[in-house]
Amino acid sequence: MIGVLALQGDVREHLAALTACGDVRAVPVRRPCELDAVDAMVLPGGESTTMSRLLTVFDLLDPLRARIAADMPVYGSCAGMILLAREVLDGRPDQQQLGGLDVVVRRNAFGRQVDSFETDLAVDGVAGDPMRAIFIRAPWVEKAGDDVRILAAVPDHTVTGADTGAAAGRPVAVRQGAVLATAFHPELTGDLRVHALFCELVRAATA
Ligand code: GLN
Repeated sequence: MIGVLALQGDVREHLAALTACGDVRAVPVRRPCELDAVDAMVLPGGESTTMSRLLTVFDLLDPLRARIAADMPVYGSCAGMILLAREVLDGRPDQQQLGGLDVVVRRNAFGRQVDSFETDLAVDGVAGDPMRAIFIRAPWVEKAGDDVRILAAVPDHTVTGADTGAAAGRPVAVRQGAVLATAFHPELTGDLRVHALFCELVRAATA
């Protein structure tokens, strides 16, 4: 059973993608008792500063931190990646981190909303053609610890509103143990391969 943090963001899209993977149950999580009932969590795209505030309001911050510290599998897309990072650059000073990923991310790294873009991305562990990756006011990984595997980086040919030279080569998909994160939104494309990869991680962790 996989929970999707349902405080804000594209919750429905993640629930639909997980359900389409088959073989797992996907449920929204808003309360500590709902968190207790799941084997793994997905943190959706949205606005990390808002989610951070609501995690406190809904008494989920500490329980979620504790589950992640106890090796519960987690997948975060975009704002979810930001929440999982050890440290955030260009965040709000009061923004809370869940931890789990030994990375420093830069929030809104590619620029403003108008600098959102799509590109084809080869993702390590995702077989077949490169996937269509949608970046919406996305972060990138600025620094990663030794235990973090880089699964995908911004291709050189990507044209964004941001300084392309600065964007090229930046990690945008990472994995550390059972923690997976992408700066982009596979839940928006109908390509289930990242969610399927996460379901595999969850199956391995719960076996
Ligand atoms: N910029 C957002 C944040 O800071 C993330 C955007 C997204 O999830 N699409 O949380």
